[in-house]
Amino acid sequence: MIGNADTLQDALMEIHRLRAEIELLKVSEKRHREFSETIADWFWETDTEQRFTWVSDEFQTVLGVSPQRLVGKRRWDVASERMEIDSQQWQAHIADLTARRPFRDFKYWLEDGDGRPCWIKVSGIPRFHPDGSFAGYRGTGTNITAAVETAHRMNMLNRAVEQSPASIVITDLSAHIQYVNAEFMKVTGYSAEEAIGRNPRILKSDLTPVETYDSMWSALSAGEKWEGELINRRKNGELYWELASIQPIQNVEGVVTNYLAIKTDITQQKLNEARLANLVNELHRSNQELEQFAYVASHDLRQPLRMISGYLGMLFKTLGPSLNDDTRTFFGFAIEGAKRLDRMIVDLLEYSRIGRQDAPQEPMNLNEVLADSSRHLEVAVSELGAAVTIAPNLPTIHGDRLELVRLFQNLIGNAIKYCAPDRMPRVEVTSSDGGTEWILAVKDNGIGIGPDDLQRVFGIFQRLVTRDQYEGTGIGLAVCRKIAEHHGGRIWVESKADEGSTFFVAFPKKQPSTAA
Ligand code: ADP
Repeated sequence: MIGNADTLQDALMEIHRLRAEIELLKVSEKRHREFSETIADWFWETDTEQRFTWVSDEFQTVLGVSPQRLVGKRRWDVASERMEIDSQQWQAHIADLTARRPFRDFKYWLEDGDGRPCWIKVSGIPRFHPDGSFAGYRGTGTNITAAVETAHRMNMLNRAVEQSPASIVITDLSAHIQYVNAEFMKVTGYSAEEAIGRNPRILKSDLTPVETYDSMWSALSAGEKWEGELINRRKNGELYWELASIQPIQNVEGVVTNYLAIKTDITQQKLNEARLANLVNELHRSNQELEQFAYVASHDLRQPLRMISGYLGMLFKTLGPSLNDDTRTFFGFAIEGAKRLDRMIVDLLEYSRIGRQDAPQEPMNLNEVLADSSRHLEVAVSELGAAVTIAPNLPTIHGDRLELVRLFQNLIGNAIKYCAPDRMPRVEVTSSDGGTEWILAVKDNGIGIGPDDLQRVFGIFQRLVTRDQYEGTGIGLAVCRKIAEHHGGRIWVESKADEGSTFFVAFPKKQPSTAA
């Protein structure tokens, strides 16, 4: 019996030992499972034919697809057909499986529960029965779609930065360059190797005002973005302008770790601006010179002209009785020519005076202005029996009273003068709101203007009619245009030959800051 008791004792100890071993195994299995879970999303097993025999429940959690959908199928039966997979990679995978070799990180596409293709990474090791015969594979699977998408996005952004038409420079906090893109190298002439590790000071030209750097550093040290212009020097010594935007970059914890500078080479733009400013100055100067010349010339020309007409008159008076008909006519032509020349000079003088006085522009009620203009035309209006109507609600604009009176006097005067022989002249003055401007319209029922002449009529000495038809010098509308432009406005005409014309003048509602 003692022997039996010993055997029982041994058996109990064995059980105790086995239990302890099982506990150890459980702990160890839990450990290993936890380790594997940190590196994979799910687990799977296949049989000797590569058919899934088991897929862990996590597959459902990760992809929204029941693991049962895979059971009985092979990897190539379940791979998404919508996405291309490199055939060489498949062949290498099949070769691994055939040789029963372990494989790592084989990547293919599976569709998730919503039918979206997901990029999957699987690793597996062959498993064998105790007798050494092949039993299938066992392994892990991971959904790497998000990681791949992030990598793809990073790659795209990287390319965008690399190929950006702006220079991009990243420095650390002590202003050592860490990154430059291709455009930086193109603009500055420094290669990445030459630039990295150095201070952007290598580009400094000493021509950028100190205040610019002061404002840059005070913005950056306050954690703010700075924008401004820098005059820098390329590696070959050439100067260039850049428009720079520099900002501090924070890491995920909100700590500033770098500075990012995005810069555009604006040298050409600067040169163009300077060229344009020179041209404008030059134009302004030559315009002033021309105006001065026109003024002086017309002013000084009147004096000798007056002598010519005066002495012609005296000669005519003295010789009058002894002249025959022909010589009388010749005298008449000469005196008439001198008079006409005087009128033209007077008109030219008036034209060159517009805008010279630089009288302050004041609020002008256009109804009052138009009343003055009409008063000057009373004689012509009554001689021709014209009907002139002026809308009672014309706006008030900023302007020079004398010039505005002249402008409308010319337009209404023409509207009456260029009347058709078969009808009484009718003229209407109205206004309309053009948003940022007031638009005045002077409409007549006269002879009209052909489509080809609508622009030409505003030029100096441009006439569409002969002097025997309608008297005039061809300066009136040029004067109107100069006055409109002096008020920051514009003038144009719409017309139909034989039906009438409408002249429009647009005045800005806001007082122009610089008179034209
Ligand atoms: P002028 O009246 O002294 O000839 P303007 O500069 O005022 O000079 O006008 C230029 C030309 O435009 C005129 O000769 C005429 O042919 C044409 N014109 C001007 N106003 C009108 C109008 N209201 N209707 C038709 N033609 C016009």
